Amino acid sequence: MRNSPKCDCGAEKQTIYHIAFVCPIYAYRGPRIDCLTTSSAFIKWLEELELDL
Ligand SMILES: [Zn+2]
Repeated sequence: MRNSPKCDCGAEKQTIYHIAFVCPIYAYRGPRIDCLTTSSAFIKWLEELELDL
């Protein structure tokens, strides 16, 4: 269990937006349209994230 909402990269808040698009550690590397269309690549990325959101 995490006690802090801070991200592993040092960001103050570990939001889904931060993780998906901003975080230097976890951000999705593919095109952002993938998250709107929930492409298979984006689903795979989500599944491989080992985070409790
Ligand atoms: Zn981060």
